[in-house]
Amino acid sequence: MTKIDLKNLTIKKAHEALKKGDFTSVQLTQAYLDEIKLKNKDINAYLEVYDNALVYAEMADKKIQDAIKAKKDFSSLLGIPCGIKDNILVKGHIASASSKILENYHATYDATVIQKLQQEGAVFIGRLNMDEFAMGGSTENSAYGVTKNPYDLSRVAGGSSGGSAAAVAMQGALFTLGSDTGGSIRQPASFCGVVGLKPTYGAVSRYGVMAMGSSLDQIGPIANTVGDCEIVFNAIKGKDIKDGTTISENTYPSKLVGKKKPIIGVPRDFLKGDGIDKEVLKSFNESLESFRSKGYEIKDIALPNISYSLMVYYVLMPAEVSSNMARFDGVKYGLHKDGANVIEDYFETRRAGFGREVIRRILLGTYVLSSGYYDAYYNRANAVRQMITNDFLKAFEGVDIIATPTAPSTAFKIGEKTADPVAMYLEDIFTVTANLTGLPAISIPCGLTEKEGKKLPIGLQLTTRHGAEQTLFSAGKDFLNEK
Ligand code: GLN
Repeated sequence: MTKIDLKNLTIKKAHEALKKGDFTSVQLTQAYLDEIKLKNKDINAYLEVYDNALVYAEMADKKIQDAIKAKKDFSSLLGIPCGIKDNILVKGHIASASSKILENYHATYDATVIQKLQQEGAVFIGRLNMDEFAMGGSTENSAYGVTKNPYDLSRVAGGSSGGSAAAVAMQGALFTLGSDTGGSIRQPASFCGVVGLKPTYGAVSRYGVMAMGSSLDQIGPIANTVGDCEIVFNAIKGKDIKDGTTISENTYPSKLVGKKKPIIGVPRDFLKGDGIDKEVLKSFNESLESFRSKGYEIKDIALPNISYSLMVYYVLMPAEVSSNMARFDGVKYGLHKDGANVIEDYFETRRAGFGREVIRRILLGTYVLSSGYYDAYYNRANAVRQMITNDFLKAFEGVDIIATPTAPSTAFKIGEKTADPVAMYLEDIFTVTANLTGLPAISIPCGLTEKEGKKLPIGLQLTTRHGAEQTLFSAGKDFLNEK
């Protein structure tokens, strides 16, 4: 067998090749394992490669053989190698959320998304690095070392799903799962030149996924192409009685306002200011031109309250974090440290187990929820959240898609923003709105820029109506000239 060209491989192509017998799932999985062996020591995308990865592949090959014999087609994900973010439970394997507090925690059940991928026959290669409990934008908050950007090892891969994006970019998996509370799928996808989808709130079950901000969290795919993200999204979405926020397929009937093609809105006022890299803005404007040349109408729109999004997010998210983190008390899961009494046990365990950013957010969240401050911060932020959502819903009366850059910059240097949490939080300026509003958004690669002799990817973010992921897929494929 000739060497498999992993660089140009997609789920669609791999599926055809598996069907034709060009290679087996074991051979494909082995090719990824070889690549991981070669690159992971530098990049640190995988925290662990499962020792039974090839067993999953052998099982898939059997099913493929049976289907071929019976002259039946089989799932596009059968035999396809994937990596899983470390906050998603895969039964029997460690799930640590890149935290010391869960260093030796073994999942006792499968997350719904894992069950669904298993039914399709996907091959699980291993678990992927992230910011601790998904809090961060660079994976520098992982207790197990930073994930480096495959395009330039002196730079971050983004976060919190940095391992998930870097794994795809380094040919360490054909697709990965990430979680996105304020941009954690899209921003690393943008930094690593791959595609990442944050689905509509409620589209994908979070059962078996460690909660960060429960009114914001969604699970989604990262892959090489829009078409591949679509395949994975279709496999993992759907109502689940184990996650009461999940919605059924036709909750949101959606109709385009554009007659021929979706109309794209651009919140121009939000893109002024000097916080955005020039190269990012240039590439963004070129992307709009490219859409225009493909027959899309581009319109300026107003989102009057969007400039409050980041502030609202950084009040609501820590509030939810502080209550979600309460379950890590050293009794139920993971690390336990002894103190003088039960209360001291909690303190000792949490002090030893949590990193600085997690502690910072628990403190912030506890503060905004404390009596006397609750109305001033939490309630007011919730009211502004509704205003922001209304702005978007109003904008979607005149356009079908809203476009912005995914992040204000390209991948930054490791250590560049660690001393200044606010600088790090500003990275989320364009992504948090989709979580606050529950809208689906995708990041697609839209260009490369050169810095210090290295090419760095830039991402374009498209947001659309609730439940209208299909609009993102068709526009994204159009943009990347995918068939
Ligand atoms: N960077 C954002 C934060 O630090 C987003 C995190 C996420 O989406 N999980 O909160």
